[in-house]
Amino acid sequence: MADQNKTVALVVPFLNERENLRTLYERTIRVFESEPEEVRFIFVDDGSTDDGPDVLLELREKDPRVGLLRLSRNFGHQVAITAGMDHADADAVVIIDADLQDPPEVIPDLLRRWREGCEVVYAVRRRRAGESWLKRTLAAGFYKLFRRLARVDVPLNAGDFRLLDRRAVESLRGVREQHRFMRGLTCWIGFTQGSVEYDREARHDGETKYPVWKSLHLAFDAITSFSSAPLRLISWLGIITCILGVLWLLRIVIIKWVDPAAMVPGWTSLMAAVLLLGGAQLFAIGMLGQYVSRIYEEVKKRPLYLLSRKEL
Ligand code: UDP
Ligand code: MG
Repeated sequence: MADQNKTVALVVPFLNERENLRTLYERTIRVFESEPEEVRFIFVDDGSTDDGPDVLLELREKDPRVGLLRLSRNFGHQVAITAGMDHADADAVVIIDADLQDPPEVIPDLLRRWREGCEVVYAVRRRRAGESWLKRTLAAGFYKLFRRLARVDVPLNAGDFRLLDRRAVESLRGVREQHRFMRGLTCWIGFTQGSVEYDREARHDGETKYPVWKSLHLAFDAITSFSSAPLRLISWLGIITCILGVLWLLRIVIIKWVDPAAMVPGWTSLMAAVLLLGGAQLFAIGMLGQYVSRIYEEVKKRPLYLLSRKEL
């Protein structure tokens, strides 16, 4: 393979990471000194209010490999990643956080797997330093739930740190849904997937831009864009309520028949109406939801399939 000419674009979404950008740049450059591929940077400014972008412009003057995209405001991490990938014209893209929690020193491992033929290579965290217990526990629970509901094989314990071959990047360009969960989508596209392990470090500087509420929001987006299981759950609840209602009703009718004095007048019919209607309503909402979810699937306009090879 003529690796000399291959290029790797680093997509770095950042929001107020002034203190980390230069270090990330320097450490990455050092890493690529011993790799045959050429590196380029696509820093994506997701609405920073500090002077991080100026640091980058300064770097760019000395080194034209440093590229900068500025979003007009904060659009969120997942959209920033998308913008970077849309503008990357390279043989492979590596998505990496700007806070150095994903060490650039892991990139050679990603590249190795890529050269071996993997088109999507995840970096799976062996250990996570500097993150709260709450966040780690919620994350672990979420990934288990997501894998069950979404029927997409997302690796447990992988963030957005990963390498994507040009083909995978081009495929993802065709996926334009608004509520994007990139970790799910990079699995959903298929292709040859592989992984490497690494130890996630603590943040180099600054504070997390993903407080727990924002992570929960992402989790909700992830589940609703990959699964209509919550809607199916409502339908099932409705059906079960209906069945229980009928059974309860039978019981009431029997009691009324055996010992009419034991019942308050009117209670039987009231109870029957509440139980049956409640069940029927839940069921109807679930059914409606199923149609809504199908409309949602259609308007997302995800491609029906992707080809990894075509020889006609
Ligand atoms: N980030 C972003 N836009 C946002 C929030 C975060 O571009 O709205 C960037 C952030 O600067 C960092 C990466 O996304 O480079 C991951 O965020 P962070 O490190 O704060 O999340 P954590 O690692 O704590 O989950
Ligand atoms: Mg981080």
